[in-house]
Formats: sequence, C-alpha cells, structure tokens
Amino acid sequence: MKKIVAYATVAVLAATPLSAQRNFDDVEITAEEVAPGIAVLFGAGGNIGVSHGEDGTVLIDDQFAPLTAKIEAAVAELGAQPVGFVINTHWHGDHTGGNENLGEKGALIFAHHNVRTRLAEGREGERPVPPAPDAALPVVTYGQGVTMHLNGYRTDVMFLGGGHTDGDSIVYWHGANVVHMGDLYFKIPGFPFIDTSSGGNVIDAMNSLDAVIRMIDGETKVIPGHGPMSNKAELVAYRAMIGQAVDRVRDLRIGGNTLDQALAAKPLADFDRGEGFIDADGFVTAIYRSLDARD
Ligand SMILES: [Zn+2]
Repeated sequence: MKKIVAYATVAVLAATPLSAQRNFDDVEITAEEVAPGIAVLFGAGGNIGVSHGEDGTVLIDDQFAPLTAKIEAAVAELGAQPVGFVINTHWHGDHTGGNENLGEKGALIFAHHNVRTRLAEGREGERPVPPAPDAALPVVTYGQGVTMHLNGYRTDVMFLGGGHTDGDSIVYWHGANVVHMGDLYFKIPGFPFIDTSSGGNVIDAMNSLDAVIRMIDGETKVIPGHGPMSNKAELVAYRAMIGQAVDRVRDLRIGGNTLDQALAAKPLADFDRGEGFIDADGFVTAIYRSLDARD
C-alpha cells in the first residue's frame, strides 16, 4: 500500500516539472538500482542519477532545496558516502534546487558553461528566476563535456548541442550501459519541453537525441529527466514523434501560416500524448519559434 501511494505522488509531481511553489513535506524519495553502483532517485522534480562506490558519490541533478535532507537520506540508504560531486544536466530549478545546500557542504558542482551563466543571471519575464547564490553555482564548467573516472566506470558527461535549453548535458556510464538524458527526454504525459527562452531549440534537441540513439543499444538503461526508467526503443519512438511534429509545423510555416494560424490548424490533434506539463499548443509554439530562430 505504501509503495502505491509513493508512486502516485511521483506521477502527480513529475507532471509539473518546473513548479516550485508547493509543499514538499509529502514528497517521498524512492530509489531504484539500475546497475552496480548506479541508482536513480525519484521524488519531485528531475530524476536524480546516483553513482556511488569507493571513490565517492556523484549526483546527476538535485531537485528542489527543501528535499536535500531527504535526498541525502536516500543516498545514505544506498550505502553511499555523502555527496562529493554534482552534475547539473541544465539550469532549471527542478534540477538545480539542491545546489546551494550541497555546494555549501563542499560538493563540487559541474555543468555546461551556459548553466552557470543562466543560474548566475537568473531571468526576468513570464517565469522569473532570481539570480542564484554563489554556493549554488557550478565550479567546474565545460563546453563540450568532461569525463570522470570514478567508482569503476568511465563516465562521459556530454554536451551534444542542447535543445531543451542551451546547456543540456547527458551522462553516459560506459560499462554499466546507463545514460541519464536530463530533460532532452520526458517520459511523462504531454509533449516535449523546448525552453526557447533558455536557448532551447527543437532542431538541436533532435540532433542531441540522434547522437544518443547512435551511442546506445537495446540493453541500455535510459534515465529520462522526468518519468520512469526507459530504453532505446522508447527513446527512438520519442525522437520520431518529435520529427513528425516538426515536419507538420514546418509545412504550415513554409505555407505562409503565422504562428496563430499554425496553432489554429491544430497540427498535432491526432497525437496521443495525454495531458501533461506541455500541451500541443505549447509544443507547436516552441517548434515554430525554433524554426524562426534558424532562418
Ligand atoms: Zn528542464
């Protein structure tokens, strides 16, 4: 019974990736081991990858600040050492909210250059984000990626061109055959999230997904940014769905339709994505703006 409640909580919270205004008291952090020394933590916000072993504990993303103590408890329950390293897959608050807490305790935070810049600057407008405090900022930043040699795995942290934002990293554990996708891949109802106001572009997202698909095989364990564990076949289907959507919106745009006209045409009406964080209009808008940005 307890387990069912926990998963129901996860499903509801995972559907609202960016929402920070909520009560975290009821959030349970659940862990799933995916390979020796590699686990995923589900809670509220982006899925957390954990690498642990004799060399220390690495977290891929850290959800929201009020959850840090629960995340640390879940890490300890895995038998892991306290968090020594954090990798941010991108700058969104549901993936970086724990940075300040963990950074203050001495965890070394890694991310793409643009993640640090966006966290430091914050953003104004529709969904304002205040500038992050110094302790929350990545200390080691990179352009193309960085390779870590920890806990018996070569771990490649790779920027493949972004797409969800302009600073998306994926993390691939060689040997374990596990990949963390960040928000380049949502396995939740609704459409993909292309944050064009954070430099995201659907063309880059497709290229990044293609690069991962070439890299992995049928046995790869795929950790999505949100939602339950996945695999290559599902990732391939997700990429194909995006391609289809882009083709339809591109045709409308080339045919002279404005964004409003493209929305009115409901080009994704027959896509069976369910209701989620991003609806069809949101995705059509993001595709249209992405194509505008490449003219
Ligand atoms: Zn995100």
